[in-house]
Amino acid sequence: MASQAGPHRLGWRQRLFGSLLGQLRLAAFSSVLLGYTAASAFTLLINQQFLLRQQKTGQLLAAGPLTLSLDRSSSAPSSVNARHLRQELDRLSIRERLFWVQRRDGSLLLPGLVPGEPGVNQGFIKKAMAAPQGTWQDLSITLLLVGTDLRLVKDQEGNSFLSHPLHRSSDGSLLWVAEDISTNINALRTILLGLAGIWILCLVLTLVAISILTRRILQPLRDLRVIAAGVTSESLATSHLKLDRAPLEVAELAGSFNGLLDRLALAWSQQRQFVGLVSHELRNPLMIIGGYLRRLQRRGQNLDPEQMRALATTEAETHRITRMLNDLLDLSRSESGQLQMVLAPVAVDEVLTTACDLARSQLSRPLLLTLPKEAAEGPIRAVAETDRLQQVLLNLIENADKYSLPGRPISLNLSQDAGKLCISVQDQGIGISPEDIPKVFDRFHRGRNAIEHERGSGLGLSVVKLLVEAMGGSIDVESEIAVGSRFHIHLPAAQ
Ligand code: ADP
Repeated sequence: MASQAGPHRLGWRQRLFGSLLGQLRLAAFSSVLLGYTAASAFTLLINQQFLLRQQKTGQLLAAGPLTLSLDRSSSAPSSVNARHLRQELDRLSIRERLFWVQRRDGSLLLPGLVPGEPGVNQGFIKKAMAAPQGTWQDLSITLLLVGTDLRLVKDQEGNSFLSHPLHRSSDGSLLWVAEDISTNINALRTILLGLAGIWILCLVLTLVAISILTRRILQPLRDLRVIAAGVTSESLATSHLKLDRAPLEVAELAGSFNGLLDRLALAWSQQRQFVGLVSHELRNPLMIIGGYLRRLQRRGQNLDPEQMRALATTEAETHRITRMLNDLLDLSRSESGQLQMVLAPVAVDEVLTTACDLARSQLSRPLLLTLPKEAAEGPIRAVAETDRLQQVLLNLIENADKYSLPGRPISLNLSQDAGKLCISVQDQGIGISPEDIPKVFDRFHRGRNAIEHERGSGLGLSVVKLLVEAMGGSIDVESEIAVGSRFHIHLPAAQ
């Protein structure tokens, strides 16, 4: 049998943007990502501002005596004050923190540093003064200098210094400072690395938590879909959505859905009752009409050929509608549990022979019956009901005739194996398409090839299946387009 098409596989784009789960996850992931990134950047910026401010305070404190000397030598220039300023520069400058004075005329007053240490490199001092201030240049090492008067320079050994004018005296002289910030940068880098580590860890944990949570939140909706997909006309009355621990909105949806199912079940049962009633009321008069028509045909020697043809057509239509009403009645009885079946050992070979004889009188094509050789020794019995089995066989033969080109034979075959009997009805007709095969036993289903060929109701095979199963058997079909179809009825053999 052809398998039903599996669920359509969605692309990642559709799964992400086109599904509730994807959208929920995307929204949660992006807010978490944005939140963590903003918090990390803010922490880093605050830390950096704090370090810079602390550094400036330290510089101002350390440069206290120097600013006094500079102001004094500016307001009263004398060789004593100049010497004193020079001494203070020497005393307060160390390799990690250099102070120097830039006179108004551009001349520099540099510290001498401690004897034994390499002297101050004038080139470095000039570079420190000329470097552009407040740029993004050292963003990579976690320093954000934009909007400050700070300049970043490197000495010959590669140490990073921050330089800036610390104090301006009344005569326009500037007291400069350049401080080695390599240690601070290392500290900031450590903070950055730590933050990045925590950021990644938190992000991964949050992603896992969001995945689990969103899946759990949407689980009731998935349950709803599965239960709703399983509801059929037969299970309408018994199908109810029971969602444990569903969120309020989904629980309300399930409640409305259950109400809808109840109303549908009621309407469906009323409709079935109506169909049963109408079929019953119509069948009897139609059977009487059919009987009269057949009698008329038999005694219609005085009718002309056209009248005979009209009678034959009317009789065939009456027969078709009577059969359809019978099918409807059987289905209606089975649904209301009133399909009575008296099962007993039945000689299947005899039922087959009778059905073939009956069918041959109506068919204008060969009908071949093959019985197993055991049939010669005695009847082959199955547990069944004679009339119903005959009804099933005639129905299958009628279909085989309906869906075959004229002249093609129909073959019936009986075989037995391991406590089971198998009756097959085979034709060389138009065949059934693979898409239709799984549905041919469904109520009102008509194959696409059949619709073009013959009129029908799509009820015959569903009644056949119903009757065979009511006899404890099963039915299946194999078919190939333009080659033919073979229906197999399996019945339990009588002991
Ligand atoms: P219908 O009134 O349409 O014959 P059935 O229930 O008897 O209804 O059959 C259902 C469908 O199965 C048909 O419409 C037809 O497509 C297909 N079918 C049944 N028997 C045959 C067959 N012997 N050969 C080809 N198609 C068949």
